[in-house]
Formats: sequence, structure tokens, C-alpha cells
Amino acid sequence: MKDLKSYIRTVPDFPKEGIQFRDVTTLLGNPASFRHAVDAIVAAFKNDKIQKVAAIEARGFVLGGAIAHRLGAGFIPIRKEGKLPEQTIAESYSLEYGEATLEMHLDALAPGDRILVVDDLIATGGTVDAALALIDRQGGDVVGCAFVVDLPDLGGSAKLKARCERVVSLCSFDGD
Ligand code: AMP
Repeated sequence: MKDLKSYIRTVPDFPKEGIQFRDVTTLLGNPASFRHAVDAIVAAFKNDKIQKVAAIEARGFVLGGAIAHRLGAGFIPIRKEGKLPEQTIAESYSLEYGEATLEMHLDALAPGDRILVVDDLIATGGTVDAALALIDRQGGDVVGCAFVVDLPDLGGSAKLKARCERVVSLCSFDGD
């Protein structure tokens, strides 16, 4: 297989001018690269007795669902405001391009549950930070965080490493 990075499409000026959008739908659409990405993250955490994979809407769900299935773990959806039907807790955060709120069901995890957090990409780290805050508030034990793409120049992964021992990303792009 070619370098995983070559399966990711870059869309300039989306969703607004100046953003290079790293589009993983092309990676997910290719059977070999989708499988490879899931396999690589599963291999990194297969001995960690992960009980739940918490993934962030929406591209994180595609990866997180497949990874949870392969690890024999449950799945926790972390969603944008107003989407989850039962009682939730919420955290607001700032994005590379805007502001948002993430929510998780109050009963999504039990204290001490061993959690792997999954998203497609880490940029400034604001999104994963909010997800970690939600899990912390419910007493979850975050074993690691996994991404397909890191944008290291935006500083999120360096900040995250200070907070989470195991940060895995499969490829990185320079700049933003
Ligand atoms: P951040 O909170 O800055 O780490 O941004 C990460 C979240 O926003 C992830 O859920 C990504 O899907 C999305 N995102 C941020 N920047 C980009 C980008 N340049 N290309 C694709 N997705 C991005």
C-alpha cells in the first residue's frame, strides 16, 4: 500500500478561506487504506484492555466504531450540542475555525472504565480537550487518544501529550 497520507485529500479554503481541510473521506472510501488505518490503531491498543471507545462526531464515529468492534469494546458517541436524546453533560471549546459544544450521555461510562478516545484529526487540540473533560467528569480512565492525522504546527498534540500518556497519530501534515 502507498503511504497512508496519500489517501487523504486536501481541500483548500474549506470550510473557510485559509483552512487546508484534510479530508479523510477519501481514505475511508478506499478499502485498503480504511483497513490499514483501523488496523494500526487497534494494534497500538490491543493489549490495553480498552472497555470503551469514545469517538467524536462525525468522522471520528466511522473510525471509532470499527476500532471498538475490533477491540471488543463498547462505543461512546461524543456529539455536537442537542443531538443526544437522554441527559447529557456538556463542554464548550474553540476550533481551528469557530466555537462549539460537545455533549456526552451522563450514563455513557462507569467510573474507572478504560477509555480510548478517537477522532480523525488533531489540530489545536480544543476538540479532544473537551472530550477528555467530559470523560474526566464521569471518572473515566483515559488510556490513550488516537487520530489518523496530526497537524503538529497547531500545537494540539504537544499539549495533549502533557495530559495523556499515549497519543497515537498515523500521519502528519506540516502547516495548518
Ligand atoms: P481541533 O479542535 O483544533 O484539534 O480540531 C480538530 C477537529 O476539527 C477534528 O474533529 C477535525 O475533524 C476538525 N478539523 C480541524 N481542522 C481540520 C482540518 N484542517 N482538516 C480537517 N478537519 C479539521
